[in-house]
Amino acid sequence: MAAPRTDDDLDRALRPSRLGEFIGQQKIKDNLTVFVTAALQGGEALDHVLLSAPPGLGKTTLAHIIAEEMGAQIKTTSGPVLDKPATIAGLLTNLNAGDVLFIDEIHRMPPVVEEYLYSAMEDYRIDILIDSGPSARSVQIALPPFTLIGATTRKGLLTAPMRARFGIDFRYDYYTADLLAQIVQRSAALVRVAIDDDGAYEIARRSRGTPRIANRLLRRTRDFAEVEGTGAVTRALADRALNAL
Ligand code: ADP
Repeated sequence: MAAPRTDDDLDRALRPSRLGEFIGQQKIKDNLTVFVTAALQGGEALDHVLLSAPPGLGKTTLAHIIAEEMGAQIKTTSGPVLDKPATIAGLLTNLNAGDVLFIDEIHRMPPVVEEYLYSAMEDYRIDILIDSGPSARSVQIALPPFTLIGATTRKGLLTAPMRARFGIDFRYDYYTADLLAQIVQRSAALVRVAIDDDGAYEIARRSRGTPRIANRLLRRTRDFAEVEGTGAVTRALADRALNAL
């Protein structure tokens, strides 16, 4: 693959697209496999999913994987963008049966939007206001069954009624250094960087349990390796590169 230019490009380029490539979070993967298989067998949309974790632990990644595993399309938005009910109504009415609507930072939705979502999540119905002035009236429309995936870094800020509407509720664990070393190895192979086990572990050890940080440190280390002209990432090189930051 072409070398990713920005950190956001890097995130996208390194994002695993199937559950089998998603490293760690074994309990989440085991449960998800059961729920996805059952939904597919029953020909139903997957239950709504809440993903809670600090930034960079793989919430967005998993939302895309879930859509992929369900054979569904994903539409993405985020709490702060959903300023009024009409904005979310526009998204909801464009969904097809089984689609995933991913709302990042779902704890940052205004309360009116949150309340508007309740009937969509529970009964796949929303009220839409048509016309304005004296002829204004609201009509109820049916939505196709869909899956809402909400991601939050601050689960405690979600209201109880909102939390209760998610049938599936996953909380991530931080990644151990061993798992992060596997992630670094996988990423290094994708961006074609030679790295040995000790080099990968050195990066993993400094990544604060977070895959996104591991990928960024790998990138910095790779730049360092290129400038030094050695090419391969060893423990000594990773150590020098990361101390120089
Ligand atoms: P979040 O949405 O929680 O902030 P992301 O899903 O954007 O985090 O993950 C950040 C990056 O970390 C992704 O681009 C991906 O490359 C990597 N990543 C996250 N979790 C995993 C994982 N379990 N296995 C492999 N890579 C991962």
